[in-house]
Amino acid sequence: MRSGFWNCVRASAAALAALALAVAPGLRAQDRAPRRIQVEKYVIQAELDPATHKLRARAQVQFIPGEDVLNATFELNNNLSPSKITDAAGQTVVAQRYQQDGTLRVGFDRPLPKERPATLTFEYDGTLAGGENQPVEGLKLAYVGDPVSYLLYAGRWFPVSTYQVDRFTAQLDITVPQGLRVIAPGRGEMKPAPAGKATWSFVYDRPGFPGSFAVVREQPQRFTESGLPVEVYFRGPEESQAQAYAEAAGKIVSFYASKFGPAPLTSMALVEIDAGSVNGYSAPGITFLSPRAIGNKLNYRLLSHELAHQWWRGMVSPASRADLWLDEGLAGYSEMLYVEELAGKAALEDVARDNEIAALTNDSVPVIRGASLEEFTPEYTSVVSKKGAMVMHMLRWVIGDEAFFNGLKQYAAAFAGKPAGTDDLRKIFEKTSGMNLEGFFIQWIESSGAPEFKADYTVFRVAPGKCQTLPPNKQKEGCFRIAGKIKQDMDTFRMPVEIRIDSDAPEPEIRRVDVAGTASDFSVETFGRPRKVTVDPENRVLKYNDKVRIQVAINRGQQSADAGEYEDALKEYQRALDINRNSSLAHFRIGEVFLAQANYQSAANAFREALNGDQEPRWTEVWAHINLGKIFDITGQRERAVNEYNQAVRTRDNTQEAQAEAQKYLKEPYRRERRPEVSEK
Ligand SMILES: [Zn+2]
Repeated sequence: MRSGFWNCVRASAAALAALALAVAPGLRAQDRAPRRIQVEKYVIQAELDPATHKLRARAQVQFIPGEDVLNATFELNNNLSPSKITDAAGQTVVAQRYQQDGTLRVGFDRPLPKERPATLTFEYDGTLAGGENQPVEGLKLAYVGDPVSYLLYAGRWFPVSTYQVDRFTAQLDITVPQGLRVIAPGRGEMKPAPAGKATWSFVYDRPGFPGSFAVVREQPQRFTESGLPVEVYFRGPEESQAQAYAEAAGKIVSFYASKFGPAPLTSMALVEIDAGSVNGYSAPGITFLSPRAIGNKLNYRLLSHELAHQWWRGMVSPASRADLWLDEGLAGYSEMLYVEELAGKAALEDVARDNEIAALTNDSVPVIRGASLEEFTPEYTSVVSKKGAMVMHMLRWVIGDEAFFNGLKQYAAAFAGKPAGTDDLRKIFEKTSGMNLEGFFIQWIESSGAPEFKADYTVFRVAPGKCQTLPPNKQKEGCFRIAGKIKQDMDTFRMPVEIRIDSDAPEPEIRRVDVAGTASDFSVETFGRPRKVTVDPENRVLKYNDKVRIQVAINRGQQSADAGEYEDALKEYQRALDINRNSSLAHFRIGEVFLAQANYQSAANAFREALNGDQEPRWTEVWAHINLGKIFDITGQRERAVNEYNQAVRTRDNTQEAQAEAQKYLKEPYRRERRPEVSEK
């Protein structure tokens, strides 16, 4: 059983296995250096033939050199090949294709002068039929076919410069077979087209990211009840979800408008793509959703995340690739705000705990270097989206709700339609809070890792009248003074941290301590005798403790297991067991690895250990029984298998449809679908 769900990340374990999860060596030069060229506008004529998966296009790129340039580099999907590239005078220019990183390097005979507008026209075509040779290997980001074609900006289906950073305008003329419908950002109209075809033309004239569109067969289902006109293009079983998604979209957009300021959109199209692509993707006024993500119940977290990108990407975008977290992290935090709006504070804290674990699962790369990771991988999501969201969550606590929400609104207003950098965001929050936040951003954006707190302290009895912080008239009995230090390992760390002192008094004492460096003093007086000091009781700070370490190790193990790296996975799970021998979850995950390796005896032992462990989380019980049942079925011991399935039924736990699974194999023995893969190690 797989738990956990990543927005913007494909969830298929098989697809993940195909992916090398390698970390690129570092930021590419273009990630922070001034840009050599700035793309301004695209004029694209594209023709799609879904029957043959073919795309044929002509893209005119208008750009401004930031310096005298002898060459310019563009990214273009490796499935597409240019047949001709010409300059403004119509002269053919030469280009070199680099398949490794999907770039196209165009060279010029003489330098293009700085600041003088230049033009290149690319004629290219190719077959976009599957996940092969896509910008992220195995993931369909640009696809032409039935029943839906989708060409996402992330799929580099046109020559892209400074991905996710350069804002551009666009004119798209998309020709498709008659009867199909094109959904693209901007104003649309029909243009004359050859017989049997239709040309849909779109103009998007505010600089932004209008480089994504879809081609569908169906008519939209239209909804206007929420105040936001929503067109839904869902197919098959997902069609019944159309109304729920449309209504939710309207609610989410008006919630964000109340928090961030006016919506940068007047209508929304929700388009179902297919399971081979990302779970969700955003373009101006369009949200692309995979059927897996739409599911059979409103996935409001994914929808709220994707809609937040209308503000954080569409409206305000990262000034450089080092600032990508401003796009993903703010969308991630907007999603958390919507969880809070819909389900309350406790639900927000639950998501914060999950995000904390996700953020720490890949904590060796600082947020500012997130661009060195491959987009749509768990590592990227962990660093850029989850940790980015947690930085906003912590910031809100440090500066308080008023300064935080004022800051968000001011940030959106000041940078609407423009790029913004991390320093721009920091300065706005410094203004609304009156605090210096440089240390905070250095800690959480530029550095990696997280602290682990310990409190050392002594308790003194203080005579009546000598208690310094308590009112004299209440000191007949004197008080207790608890004095000590909060310790943690990170020299540069500086942030307020709460401590809670539980004492004999009915109410605990809560104090904010400014933690700076490895040891910070605190002193608190209480009437009751202090019993226990807890650092960061409300979990405001991204930090390690034993519980977090166990979950992080298990998460890392799962990432390795998903990639087929079973040895590494077992090492991580063992790390979790080193902290807590009784972790049912660690034993359960070990059982899964052995099961995948067809090592049935070891798998059965591990599932038994899971049953005898701390039963955290509870679902380990029902699923350990089911897996034991499967092992007995595989090894021809039907009676013992039935016994396990019956025990699964008795737990009444239905996490991830466990009960249906147990019933299914009570009726009919479990059979392996195929021979197990044999690990090469
Ligand atoms: Zn996102």
